[in-house]
Amino acid sequence: MRDARGFCHRHSWGLVRRGAAFGAAIVMRDVVRTLQRTLADARFRNMPLLSLTRVQETLDAQQPRSSTAEAVAALGPQTPCPVCVFEGDVEGALVANFLENLQREGGLLPAYRASDGFCLSYVRQILARVSGEAAFQMIVEAQQAIWTRLEQQLSELIRKSDYRYGDEAVGRRAPPGCVRLPP
Ligand SMILES: [Zn+2]
Repeated sequence: MRDARGFCHRHSWGLVRRGAAFGAAIVMRDVVRTLQRTLADARFRNMPLLSLTRVQETLDAQQPRSSTAEAVAALGPQTPCPVCVFEGDVEGALVANFLENLQREGGLLPAYRASDGFCLSYVRQILARVSGEAAFQMIVEAQQAIWTRLEQQLSELIRKSDYRYGDEAVGRRAPPGCVRLPP
């Protein structure tokens, strides 16, 4: 936790819940003490007046300064957020399980195809782990069918936003939701 400088922004919000204040305070006090020590050790590095870096930095006010780069890096996470690491491991196992199931007879392919599919992040994670062309084609075909439906719904919504069709009802049946794993 010290090396990670606490949780990432997204997972820090997990600490904000009733009854979690005491544990969160202990952990965060430790992180803050680490930051205090790190900041106490931070030094401003004087760059030679006529160095190329100094000239470039003078010309570009947006460019991070070399003089404080070490302090900035030391205050940043030295290791990834522990929850992100755990999440990555779990997601990796689930994606591997999904890929294995997809190619089985009676597997998840029909449910996947009929669902609203995965978010783009998961589509990319799944494709990153596909090793066979058959599985690759299966996923591409199913995801294309899902995105075709989505594109049609968006087009329909845009069409109905036109004042000439303003009295047509907007919406469709409840979405089938995410892929459900069989029990
Ligand atoms: Zn995280």
